[in-house]
Amino acid sequence: MANNVPDIPSSLVEALRAARHVAALTGSGISAESGVPTFRDPQDGLWAKYRPEELATPLAFRRDPKLVWDWYTWRRQLVARALPNPGHLALVELERCVPRLTLITQNVDGLHQRAGSQAVVELHGNINRAKCFREGVMVEAWEDAGQSPPACPHCGGPLRPDVVWFGEALPPAALQAAVEAAATCQIFFSIGTSGLIEPAASLAYAALRRGALVVEINPATTPLSDNAIPLRGPAGQVLPALMQAAWPSEPGR
Ligand code: NAD
Repeated sequence: MANNVPDIPSSLVEALRAARHVAALTGSGISAESGVPTFRDPQDGLWAKYRPEELATPLAFRRDPKLVWDWYTWRRQLVARALPNPGHLALVELERCVPRLTLITQNVDGLHQRAGSQAVVELHGNINRAKCFREGVMVEAWEDAGQSPPACPHCGGPLRPDVVWFGEALPPAALQAAVEAAATCQIFFSIGTSGLIEPAASLAYAALRRGALVVEINPATTPLSDNAIPLRGPAGQVLPALMQAAWPSEPGR
């Protein structure tokens, strides 16, 4: 077993094999091994002087729409070059192995879908989509050349990424699906998230209150750690090891 992978407790393996409904909440840490920086990683050159909290707000967009759109264009290009990693792929496999998996992500990169996960609850939107800043109408395609931000084809207003900015409400259907999953699952995985951003951070505690096993996969500790079964290590190694421990005879391994 690789150095970075902790032993998988046999009690967890048994619980996972017996679970009827598993929920998994992912954060930017699961995409770190794909080369997509988390918000706490140092940002690249040009963007090093900005903090995400200063760019990912409606106020920032009103003040300087070009700056914010260009930052998202840079992030969209980064994501387009990235590939799903073994952590994303292990969750695809988990979806096939348990009767029901609710995969909830705070990520906006679409890497779970590109890995092959069928049903993904996107709490914070998706960087690959855009909508009108003025009217909120979703826009399927836009011209990236020239104007920044591009104009809405319906009303001419500026386009913005379809992501949830700081201070904005989450998409109600996604939030409801996540809350329902936390309340009814037998096992809740918190993967690659610092657990600092609400309401996502509360989901693990809601699962705990309903008696679910809560498992944290993260190389670092978080505010949740004292209440969770820790699997300390990078998700791209820990998740495949967990799948191997629970379903050793699955094809493809
Ligand atoms: P965060 O930056 O607050 O925390 C990242 C967590 O991942 C940390 O706890 C860190 O220890 C852990 N981590 C780092 N490498 C890891 C690895 N290899 N395996 C497992 N864990 C690892 O991220 P967050 O909790 O997701 O919250 C920040 C917000 O940032 C979210 O709302 C999200 O929408 C947004 N965001 C998304 C992306 C993306 O879509 N990929 C990237 C950056 C930020």
